[in-house]
Amino acid sequence: MVDQVCLDCGMSVAEMVQHCPKCDNDLSAQHDGSTITVDIAHKGESISEALRLMQSEVDLARKGVAMCIRLVVGSGLIREEVMLALRNLKYRGEIKGFNLEPKNAGAILINLK
Ligand SMILES: [Zn+2]
Repeated sequence: MVDQVCLDCGMSVAEMVQHCPKCDNDLSAQHDGSTITVDIAHKGESISEALRLMQSEVDLARKGVAMCIRLVVGSGLIREEVMLALRNLKYRGEIKGFNLEPKNAGAILINLK
């Protein structure tokens, strides 16, 4: 089963492979520079629902090639809780970092790679 492609040499590689067998690039560190936008706070989500959504989006995105997630969190409690949860993810090394979006405090930019 093939479901990732080395962005450096174009080699198709099985999902669980960490390094490209052809050019030895670290596949988990490759990204295409793109940003995924996800709104987790505008359908009346509770805090725990929003946190669950955030976690599943991060898990999903880490398997892909996007560089960032732009998480729309609004300005209330969800943002506070998500910031705390992201601090944990960063501590565990699951994300590289995160920041409130400049000029829009209702969104958080997460650096995945
Ligand atoms: Zn390669």
